[in-house]
Amino acid sequence: MSIPVLTAVAWPYANGPRHIGHVSGFGVPSDVFSRYQRMVGNRVLMVSGTDEHGTPIQVQADAEGTTPRELVDRYSRVIQDDLVGLGLSYDLFTRTSTDNHHRVTQDLFTALWNNGYVSTEKTLGAISPSTGRTLPDRYIEGTCPICGYPSARGDQCDNCGNQLDPADLINPRSRINGETPQFVETEHLLFDLPAFSKSLASWLDTRTHWRPNVLNFSRRLAEDLKPRAISRDLDWGVRIPLDGWHDAPMKRFYVWFDAVIGYLSASVEWAQRTGAPDAWKEWWCDPEAQAYYFMGKDNITFHSVMWPAILLGHNGEGDRGGEVGSFGRLNLPTEVVSSEFLTMSGSKFSTSRGTVIYVGDFLREFGPDALRYFISVAGPENQDTDFTWDEFVRRTNFELANEWGNLVNRSVSMAAKNVGAVPEPTAPDPADEALLAQSRAAFETVGAHLARSRFKQAIGEAMRVVGEANAYLSHQEPWKRKDDPARRDTILHTALQVVQDANTLLTPFLPHAAQKVHEALGGSGVWAEQPHREDAGTSGELGTSHSVLTGDYAHEQARWESTPIPVGRPLARPTPLFAKLDPSLGETGPSWAPIQTGE
Ligand SMILES: [Zn+2]
Repeated sequence: MSIPVLTAVAWPYANGPRHIGHVSGFGVPSDVFSRYQRMVGNRVLMVSGTDEHGTPIQVQADAEGTTPRELVDRYSRVIQDDLVGLGLSYDLFTRTSTDNHHRVTQDLFTALWNNGYVSTEKTLGAISPSTGRTLPDRYIEGTCPICGYPSARGDQCDNCGNQLDPADLINPRSRINGETPQFVETEHLLFDLPAFSKSLASWLDTRTHWRPNVLNFSRRLAEDLKPRAISRDLDWGVRIPLDGWHDAPMKRFYVWFDAVIGYLSASVEWAQRTGAPDAWKEWWCDPEAQAYYFMGKDNITFHSVMWPAILLGHNGEGDRGGEVGSFGRLNLPTEVVSSEFLTMSGSKFSTSRGTVIYVGDFLREFGPDALRYFISVAGPENQDTDFTWDEFVRRTNFELANEWGNLVNRSVSMAAKNVGAVPEPTAPDPADEALLAQSRAAFETVGAHLARSRFKQAIGEAMRVVGEANAYLSHQEPWKRKDDPARRDTILHTALQVVQDANTLLTPFLPHAAQKVHEALGGSGVWAEQPHREDAGTSGELGTSHSVLTGDYAHEQARWESTPIPVGRPLARPTPLFAKLDPSLGETGPSWAPIQTGE
């Protein structure tokens, strides 16, 4: 049965290029999952985009002497290059600065407002005395009133983890120019999160299939909710559709609020682009539809508590009840799939400390599938995991090149040389039958892992088939069977069939290599589709043009099943699938990200 599956992928913030830690959290896992879901015949809608509002963009633009618009135009393009290069198969990767996103955010807010889940409150806000401009919370630094940490930020203390109000800091100062901020009274919108404690708790009780760390963390959050600001004093962001607020020069929605709404607005934009404006409802309003959200662990709060609370408020399902808003009753997440952190020498990737490996640099030197393989097999699925060049070289050379690449190469080469085509099998013996049975059975085991987002176990099982096939060839020695071509051909046919099965099993992980193997086996046409960039025309607050990532995945041939390889299909000698890396790279790192020694 074909079901609608929404893959909602965390929105990268448009303030710089992505590093491999980012894409190991939200990018590769969500794409592996989506490709698998399409292969089993489900109707996938995979959406995301760049998160472009908020004070960090404003401050960075000021620091670079440019406008927020110019900054996000530049970095949304850089990020799109990274993601398209990795082969992430978005149905739509868009931006939060579009007119459509602004409108959807305002409509969703209106439902919360009408149902009484938002109130106004006067609070103290900080301004810069020298410029008169609002000084955002995280650009204020001071001593934490709770733990005494001297460098706490205005919004949060990195030492004790508590959320803070900048007015509570002891000795507050601006992180931009060091001056002492002035606190003035300002009006804000507060989202009544406590009104959803009960609904969230009973919903979380039904989420027993989540990864335990995500579920337990979310339950604790839901037990202790406080009203949360959804507006800022800022002139870059989505305007607030209330009298007295809409035209105010310095009132915008808080970036966290509009960013999570992006999943819905991107789905709406996708539907508009396909010419069926209501098509998004299949993924959002059909109770049979499933919705999987992918992110790094620092974003769990927004996806397991804040976004569900917004959806419940729109649906009129919090303590205050209310009407269903203009989008119709919206589905809550089926699962929040969170990864841990990819680290380097035990630390989070950090631009300031120089421990950073950018996706673009990585792709230029090693291509996408080596990184996709590493993240899938050795990434931070269940625990923080260190990236080392040594392990990357070892995995690429000994697993991708020696195991998988070599199996493809020697099977196809021997068949091409001896027969010139897929050979015909005669009387298979028990060893042939056993190997074929193993690779057929793997569709069920690997598929069950992928459906549960257990990527390491899934790729481990797929690579086990590869290992068995290599052992089979070493044992059967078809190269020594010149006197018995019938037996040799049966062995080669068996090997090629298992190569085809293993390639199908590996397609969600290694879609670029899968296309090459498909062609090496004599196949033609698109096996695994890749995304591309399209000009989506003029949009956005300031009317600049807007480009998106999209793809037509419906015509790709890959299906999650063992299909018989056609006897007699012509074969040519293949080119090697994966280049081996110089082992010294494991000791030095590449020239653009040398391993730091002596620290
Ligand atoms: Zn503290």
